[in-house]
Amino acid sequence: MLVEGAILDRDGPRPASVRIRAGRVVEVGQRGTLRAHPDEHKVRGIVTPAPVNSHTHLGDAVSVREPPAGPVEDLVAAPHGYKFRVLATATRAAKVKAIRAALHRMEVDGTEAVVDFREEGLEGVRLLRHAARGSPLRVLILGRPLRRPIDPGEVRALLAEADGIGLSSARDESATSLRNVSRACRAQGKRFALHASEAVREEPDSFLDPKPDLLVHLAKATPDDLERVAEARVSVAVCPRSNALFARQPNLAGMERAGVALLLGTDNAMFHAPSLWRELEFAYVATRLKGRPVSAGYLARAALVEPYRWLGIPEAASVAVGSPVHPIVLQLPPDDPEYQVVTRTTEHLILRPARPRAPGIPP
Ligand SMILES: [Zn+2]
Repeated sequence: MLVEGAILDRDGPRPASVRIRAGRVVEVGQRGTLRAHPDEHKVRGIVTPAPVNSHTHLGDAVSVREPPAGPVEDLVAAPHGYKFRVLATATRAAKVKAIRAALHRMEVDGTEAVVDFREEGLEGVRLLRHAARGSPLRVLILGRPLRRPIDPGEVRALLAEADGIGLSSARDESATSLRNVSRACRAQGKRFALHASEAVREEPDSFLDPKPDLLVHLAKATPDDLERVAEARVSVAVCPRSNALFARQPNLAGMERAGVALLLGTDNAMFHAPSLWRELEFAYVATRLKGRPVSAGYLARAALVEPYRWLGIPEAASVAVGSPVHPIVLQLPPDDPEYQVVTRTTEHLILRPARPRAPGIPP
């Protein structure tokens, strides 16, 4: 396949011609300089690294009806909120089927990897690992211990099978527990993630002191809090659609100004389709409502570039010969790639040049 148009990757947007064979970039040239071989498919568009969905709860894809109205705590708080009642009553087979459908949907829309907060302890981790078998997506599973106070033995058992730990929030746990979980994750080279300042503002010390690898939401963070997070160089995954559902909004322009390393996720699969493209457009448009616009470039990086840095493979965010990630092609006008990708991408415009199926193992 020969793509005439542009590249959008970690080096920003630029005009280019790109030749792709067996799902890999084999040649890159100035726009208009590569000639199509006989029988080679030629398209006009934008070549990008495949997006990464940096925050999901795929298990609750098993819930398919409109959730009941009511306070957010009644919906998603553990252990008795609506979401946890649904998880507790659904069969294992139904959860596996729903997760597989969500992973397939992400595969179709070009997603390379997903970072999931998996509830239900060790069984939950195993269930997602099983459901992800055979999917070409890399699925990073952050497990959640069930016992309170947090039991180091349970954390050890989780870390033996999960890619890290994801906790509901710093204020739900003691400072000692947080530090212990963080230390246990680091000792094994695994990830430690926390929801933070989602429903109410939390003191930055409370979620930064345990030295997490990833914070999720920060919808209630002040500009000063965002400065602190940026200084601490902790990546932040935001989920603007999920926040909007509960009348919240992350200050994306403030995050951009502070230089926060931003990632993007689609959060609870019972509320939103796990489509980063829908998340991108909503994130961009919603910041216009309050007159604090975020740039398309910052959002595009959050979906396509920053997650690879977070995963420790920054070179994967390059559209270049030898890049370890399969690129995708978006059949969009190539003259303003960041704006086009963020506001215009729909599934029927995505080409994923033929690629071999890979086992769904984390990098
Ligand atoms: Zn979440």
